[in-house]
Amino acid sequence: MAQIAVAAPLNTLLSYEIPAELQDRVRPGLCLQVPLGRRQVQGLVFSVGPGDTTELKPVTSVPENPLPLPGTLLELLRRAGDYYCHPPGEVVRQALPAGLMSVAPRVSTLNEEHYALSEETGTPSGERQREVLNLIRQEPGISRSRLRDLCPQMAAPVKRLQELGWVQTETRERYRDPLAGAPALPDPKPSLTEEQQACLLPLKAIVDAPSFQPFLLQGVTGSGKTEIYLQWIESVLTEGGQALVLVPEIALTPQLVGRFRGRFEGRARLAVWHSALSDGERYDSWRRMARGEVDIVIGARSAIFAPLDRLRAIVVDEEHDSSYKQSEGFRYNGRDLALLRAQIEDCPVLLGSATPSLVSWYHARQGRYQLLQLMQRPVQQPLPEVAVVDMTDCEHEQWLSPDLASAIQGALDRQEQALLLLNRRGYSPFLLCEDCGTGFHCPNCDITLTYHQRSRELICHYCDYRQPPPEACPQCEGHQLTPKGIGTERLEETLEQTFPGARIARLDRDSTSGKRGHQKLVDRMRAGDIDILVGTQMVAKGHDFPKVTVVGVVSADSSLNLPDFRAAERTFSLLTQVAGRAGRADRPGQVLIQTYSPDHYAVLKAASHDVNGFLEEEQRFRQALAYPPYGHLVNFVLAGNRPEQVEGAAEDLSRHLNRFPDVEVLGPSPCVMARLRGKTRWQVLVKADQRGPLRNLLSRMNRGGAPAGVQLSIDVDPVDMF
Ligand code: ADP
Ligand code: ZN
Repeated sequence: MAQIAVAAPLNTLLSYEIPAELQDRVRPGLCLQVPLGRRQVQGLVFSVGPGDTTELKPVTSVPENPLPLPGTLLELLRRAGDYYCHPPGEVVRQALPAGLMSVAPRVSTLNEEHYALSEETGTPSGERQREVLNLIRQEPGISRSRLRDLCPQMAAPVKRLQELGWVQTETRERYRDPLAGAPALPDPKPSLTEEQQACLLPLKAIVDAPSFQPFLLQGVTGSGKTEIYLQWIESVLTEGGQALVLVPEIALTPQLVGRFRGRFEGRARLAVWHSALSDGERYDSWRRMARGEVDIVIGARSAIFAPLDRLRAIVVDEEHDSSYKQSEGFRYNGRDLALLRAQIEDCPVLLGSATPSLVSWYHARQGRYQLLQLMQRPVQQPLPEVAVVDMTDCEHEQWLSPDLASAIQGALDRQEQALLLLNRRGYSPFLLCEDCGTGFHCPNCDITLTYHQRSRELICHYCDYRQPPPEACPQCEGHQLTPKGIGTERLEETLEQTFPGARIARLDRDSTSGKRGHQKLVDRMRAGDIDILVGTQMVAKGHDFPKVTVVGVVSADSSLNLPDFRAAERTFSLLTQVAGRAGRADRPGQVLIQTYSPDHYAVLKAASHDVNGFLEEEQRFRQALAYPPYGHLVNFVLAGNRPEQVEGAAEDLSRHLNRFPDVEVLGPSPCVMARLRGKTRWQVLVKADQRGPLRNLLSRMNRGGAPAGVQLSIDVDPVDMF
């Protein structure tokens, strides 16, 4: 009998009979086909063992060349599904590439011919045949596609040479390489500073005899954390191990991938893993990993499910970043699963950040994580000077304070660059009728529509509803519809008016369509073809622009005022990150933070580069309210089309949850986004001092508990509570 997770939203594994002829081929970790009702579906075998099979349906078939998952990965999937209360089949479907978990594969293996010369060859008569023969002689084992690149009309001559028996043909699996054509940055290995050596020492000590050990590497931006990752991983590879590097959004960090390639070119096999890969690229990368043909995987959160069975090192870069949390469906956190996987693999895990999350910092203080610190930048260079600009002194709708404007002018005069952060895309967040005060709301969501001037549209940033801006107010027919507030488009326009002649560009989701759009802008910025770059938080992440000497935060308030207990933590790390973009090369940097809350500790501590000071203050606040790490949360969100039904279901759920011991039930209350995509939403938040009571509650809850027409989603350790 086999216990199988099938590709369907079922809360348990299903049991199947193993037919006699498949008896020795079905084993744990295998993807295979099984019947489910009248359909055939794919499933993943979790365990095989004796049992009564009289009532069971038999497994349908096993693939020809199966690549079973490593046992440790299987264990991770099982425990992750349990922990996040998510159906096992759905967990598996999210963790594995599409080609593996669908019965009619949308992707399959591509095969390609490769050529080599036979022992005996003669001199061909045709010129093209001679050319092809020579190319094969120069590159034995050359692939068909490469040969076609070198000699476009190769088909006929190859065929003739094959007939003559002069060319041997071998068919091999083709690898769709997402890195093909991407540049490897030259990355010579520097000798480490004393601080860096001190950090590397305990990491290297654990390479010979790996065991579970979490490390927190806390180092200011540009202090050489990446260098530590590189050298640690190098020693792991020398011992025959594999390494996994998680990064928040890999599409935004091509420089990191470039550095790894430059450092390990020709010495280690690298794979990347993120959502922008095509299904074919994913499938091929996965198979390569499962065959043990990859040494280093760099990827976004889902790379935590990479099928590696010699995993000896896990790195989580920017461990504080909230994009490690998947916000829909299987709501796992890649950072947390990295710790779980390290535990299962019995290997070390290194969490790196300039602004560690309070949770990691707390564990380091408690001695659960070993703390490694980098206080200085290796290339002697002071941290930038940060000024806080109180916007209450400025006039209404004056987006650039005189201080920021003159700093930008200074950068322009010195032919340096300025970088401006404004975490709001579009032209303005509201369009308002001056006569009657009417605003425009999304018909599906509880939010105002953002005005985009470029595309002349009002857009909902949650559901993407779009409409042209009306000519007149639908309420009073007034014609004075005025944009209120500022987004990146308007900031760009303001800068064009203030600094005529300056080369200004905008980096946000609207300006970077396509895979390459983002890269092109970054390249232009690096090349010095842009004077002022404006953007959302995309500009804050990981870029190294040597000529940026002025960084401006146009409004620190947009993230500070989010209704979320992590708002201060997020603001602090965003401000610190973006400040780290100033003055990375030989020129000193200057940072200006505009805000209406100049006394907020997140702003003040960011301005004084006081990470520990911030964390201490934040800790007090969290402790007082028993928020993580002092308490644990599970958020139950109910959504449905009929408001009174959703509210009723939320009340029932809350009553039910209140029966469990040692938990505090908050709510029910409407979600912050009380309507989203046409659905009414309510939430019940459950809090407990220990995980135990929450685990108990989750394991005994009836997961299908919501009435028909209401969807219940369970968010364990929520990050966003909208
Ligand atoms: P972080 O990851 O902390 O932002 P990096 O590892 O990217 O820091 O290092 C910042 C810069 O300093 C990079 O350009 C890197 O090449 C350089 N660097 C790192 N370590 C050293 C060192 N020991 N000596 C000289 N340069 C170094
Ligand atoms: Zn909407």
